[in-house]
Amino acid sequence: MAAQPKKKISRVRGRTRRAHNKIVLPKLSNCPKCRALIPPHIACPECGFYGSKKILITKTDKHIDQKLKEEKKTASKPKPSPKPAKDTKSQESQDSSLRAGDPKGPEATSPPAGGRDTKENKK
Ligand SMILES: [Zn+2]
Repeated sequence: MAAQPKKKISRVRGRTRRAHNKIVLPKLSNCPKCRALIPPHIACPECGFYGSKKILITKTDKHIDQKLKEEKKTASKPKPSPKPAKDTKSQESQDSSLRAGDPKGPEATSPPAGGRDTKENKK
């Protein structure tokens, strides 16, 4: 026999108890660098920044590294091409990787300060 309740718990009592059983939304804030929604006090998983410092190596960074390695391999295979041509190719690849890795970087640097200012002004 399982344990039995000594007294009936009234409708109100049970419902009052269950009133606190609810799902709470996680408190998220915008990353100041890339504007992604992240929990506070953690390094951003999207761009790898905590505050103004780059801390994490993100998945996108890894993808970029892989692409660079592949490009280097492909560039190293055709040896007969002259040296200056190789240099220009490597520079182009670096430029494209920078653009791909940090598309919102220059835009995101200025807005956060402005947003904070506006909030303070509203108060
Ligand atoms: Zn971020």
